[in-house]
Amino acid sequence: MSFTDLGLDAALVRAVQEKGYTQASPIQAQAIPAILKGSDLMAAAQTGTGKTAGFTLPLLHRLNLGKPVRSNRVRALVLTPTRELAAQVHDSVQTYGQHLRLHSAVVFGGVKINPQMMRLRRGADILVATPGRLLDLYEQNAIQFNDLEILVLDEADRMLDMGFITDIRKILALLPKQRQNLLFSATFSEEIRSLAKGLLKSPVEINVSPKNSTATAVEQIIYEVDKAQKTALLAHLIKEQQWEQALVFSKTKHGADRLVRQLTSIGVVAAVIHGNKSQNQRTEALAGFKQGKVQILVATDIAARGIDIDQLPQVVNFDLPQVAEDYVHRIGRTGRAGAKGQAISLVCADEAKQLIDIEKLIKRKFQRQQVDGFEPEHNVPHTAPKQKPVPKAVTNDKTTKGKSFAPKSLAIKPKAAKNIKAAEPGNRSRANQRRRKTA
Ligand code: AMP
Repeated sequence: MSFTDLGLDAALVRAVQEKGYTQASPIQAQAIPAILKGSDLMAAAQTGTGKTAGFTLPLLHRLNLGKPVRSNRVRALVLTPTRELAAQVHDSVQTYGQHLRLHSAVVFGGVKINPQMMRLRRGADILVATPGRLLDLYEQNAIQFNDLEILVLDEADRMLDMGFITDIRKILALLPKQRQNLLFSATFSEEIRSLAKGLLKSPVEINVSPKNSTATAVEQIIYEVDKAQKTALLAHLIKEQQWEQALVFSKTKHGADRLVRQLTSIGVVAAVIHGNKSQNQRTEALAGFKQGKVQILVATDIAARGIDIDQLPQVVNFDLPQVAEDYVHRIGRTGRAGAKGQAISLVCADEAKQLIDIEKLIKRKFQRQQVDGFEPEHNVPHTAPKQKPVPKAVTNDKTTKGKSFAPKSLAIKPKAAKNIKAAEPGNRSRANQRRRKTA
């Protein structure tokens, strides 16, 4: 389906062509006509489907038909869970709207509020905002919602995960009753459905990917490895497989910082983004990565949410996420817009439960593989361990004793990467079994 056939303004079609898109993606083909008609929308779509253009283009089209915005007013409001996503959605608004005379603004926390208040004096046809900062601005009389025509909740599931439900309800109560509502969410939990019920009127429902499915263009690989060997294995893969760039997910901020230090110490250009970093530091890290100056970007789930990087071939789960749905979000960063991607998870025995949860969610059993030279002492069990907690001292001892990470251990030069082999259940490597016997 071409963008011209969808009934969009010529100025928008031109902007899209300049961006190099030739065909509308499936979500765009379904969402654009529905939004142009003025319907409410409930869309199950994850990042990478083209959902941003799917709502931005018809939003701009509709706003362009109406009256100019008044000072301190907003005509369309897009709520996003994170600052990064807000900035990216706003970039899209500017790119697609460049040949129209509409005004847009973006506001989020973590930066000074005064410039945002000044900017809102002129009003904004489209305002992209994170919920907390939007409420702050409202309380300071910097914004009024009387002229609001359209509301978009982007990545609604993540907003709820991040505890924004109260803020969202407060914002909803401030908006005029008569408006168009668009809700985008990667997954549809009971909580999202209940939010949608109170929000949407006879919505058009779109589901571009089956619930909780993972993108098919992404090759998913699971490497079993001991916890203490994860960094060395990552360094090995980066070098042996000559990765140009990768986005690496870490469970904790502290772990992310440590990993970046370790990679840097062996000459890999790495940067980190997580919640403790200032907005400037995050923007700089992301810009460095986008420009290709940073080879490895290490991120926590929340900070990485919505990162939009074209052509990202490699995503690495250095730690598996605690919540299985996050796996779907994480690997959605690669294999975009038809490109092939690879998602590699480095899984240690402690993470068996998370791995099994992911397999259940995406209804797929992974073949566990091992890399020569990095065979684990402890294989990842195929059944979830009983809830009995393993005494900490024992786990630490076995996985880290005598192996505390030092840059030196990154120099391990295992045999060629072609030796990567599958570890089927019950078919563990002989070396491994031998080690266990002598242990
Ligand atoms: P999104 O799902 O909105 O995060 O978009 C994912 C990526 O797809 C972005 O890099 C967009 O620039 C790109 N994209 C969006 N629509 C199209 C299209 N119709 N053709 C090619 N690429 C697209």
